[in-house]
Amino acid sequence: MNPSLEVLIIGSGVCGSYAGLTLARSGAKVTILEKEPRIGGLAAGYKFGDNYCDFGVHMLHAFNKEIFEDCAALMGKERIEAALDARIRWGGTSCKYPLKFREMLRAMPPLTLLRCVSGLVIAEVSGAKNRKAIHNAEDALIAFYGTPLYEYFFEEFTHKYWDIHPRDLSAEFIRRKMPRLSAVDVLRKLLPFRKKAESNITESALDTETLHYSKTGSESLPRSLASEFTRLGGKILTEVNLTKLSLSPCQANYTHLAEDHQWKGDRVINTAPLHSLTLLLGINVPERIHRAVTELKYKPTVVYALLVQKDQCMDALYTYYRNRTFHRVGEPKNAGLVVNPKGNTILIVESTCEQGDYRWVGSEKYKQEIVRDLVDEKICEENDIVEWNLMRSLHGYPIYTNGFDTHLTEIQTWIDEQKNLSSTGRQGAFCYPAMHNAMQLGKDAAGEIIKNHADSNH
Ligand SMILES: Cc1cc2nc3c(=O)[nH]c(=O)nc-3n(C[C@H](O)[C@H](O)[C@H](O)COP(=O)(O)OP(=O)(O)OC[C@H]3O[C@@H](n4cnc5c(N)ncnc54)[C@H](O)[C@@H]3O)c2cc1C
Repeated sequence: MNPSLEVLIIGSGVCGSYAGLTLARSGAKVTILEKEPRIGGLAAGYKFGDNYCDFGVHMLHAFNKEIFEDCAALMGKERIEAALDARIRWGGTSCKYPLKFREMLRAMPPLTLLRCVSGLVIAEVSGAKNRKAIHNAEDALIAFYGTPLYEYFFEEFTHKYWDIHPRDLSAEFIRRKMPRLSAVDVLRKLLPFRKKAESNITESALDTETLHYSKTGSESLPRSLASEFTRLGGKILTEVNLTKLSLSPCQANYTHLAEDHQWKGDRVINTAPLHSLTLLLGINVPERIHRAVTELKYKPTVVYALLVQKDQCMDALYTYYRNRTFHRVGEPKNAGLVVNPKGNTILIVESTCEQGDYRWVGSEKYKQEIVRDLVDEKICEENDIVEWNLMRSLHGYPIYTNGFDTHLTEIQTWIDEQKNLSSTGRQGAFCYPAMHNAMQLGKDAAGEIIKNHADSNH
């Protein structure tokens, strides 16, 4: 037990919450400060009328056995299982996503298929030579998939999705974020002269997967974590405005419910965006770090949750689109979300955007574009939509622009030198974890603090 250890966690996303839970279980005194009115960060549930909506359909994966079993125990009977049923509109049809080899064959015009296969073979044969000259995401995609497949799919998909041309993205972006095309992996495996060690630029996808969810959507997971955390004595405050952070002495000033407060303790774990952290630390941060932080870019994201007067709109849990005004449409009812009133469903419509643009502000113009594409895709009719709700995130997607890694390394090195501070999670480490990975990051940060504290007391 660590009754003498006091830790402040900035942010109540699943990373911060799991870090808090790990520390609280060790007996530490933990406070989580959250700026939003709801806990859970990107995995939070938004309540609109009688319905919960996720920021994108948020499903828990069971890949990390320890984390999964812990979450499952905490969620108890609230946890429900759903089969992964993702699709992508590809070549005029709806294909399983990640793409299956057979479906890809079916969907591609024969001549294009021939060109893409030849491109893959050429990329494969000249693989090692190409990889020496990888300067950006375009180089990486061409080196891995060949020019025809890059031109047919990846160039436009990447450009449209992120609003940044692959030439302006880091090669690292491909490794972390690109959609997984298992057909390509299958094809690569068919090649007799495939080089073994070089098939790891994108993760191979599973054919089938059981996902974990709840009847109230994603909100059940962060709520279950928070409930156990507070049961163990942890404190979570929402709608907090942090105004100042200092590391020596280790303390934070914040406003909550219109009153000023001060926290004093031993360690801080930050899970908020790095520029928020450096802003809070102010003059204690070297100018070069302030500058490096401004080089890290994010892509704002909007999610429109539509209440639709139809029992069901789609067969799939969610579908990716290449040529629509949205990138993905999900129907969480297909995974077990309870929707009120009966006979209605909810569509979760996702798009990247810019802060303040017509998508971000929820303009009539964008709503009309969404309706047009939903009707075109035969998902629903305009008259079926009875409610529009808008969710936004300024920092939903870190963007790996060219050269980001130099700046990130500089920032991380400086943070590592601060003995009272860790920065982790999607925003705090500027990375792309799924929820289970974000929780693991939180657990690791907490574990290190617990260990250091124990070492220093011996
Ligand atoms: C559209 C979308 C769909 C996704 N779908 C899935 C999925 O199906 N399955 C899956 O496993 N993962 C999914 N993910 C990824 C997953 O949601 C995130 O990686 C994970 O939730 C990140 O958790 P985190 O705690 O690291 O960060 P966040 O959730 O971003 O938490 C950071 C917290 O810090 C708070 N904060 C920020 N600034 C301050 C401040 N100054 N003071 C106090 N608090 C602050 C924020 O409000 C937030 O609560 C999805 C992500 C997106 C964007």
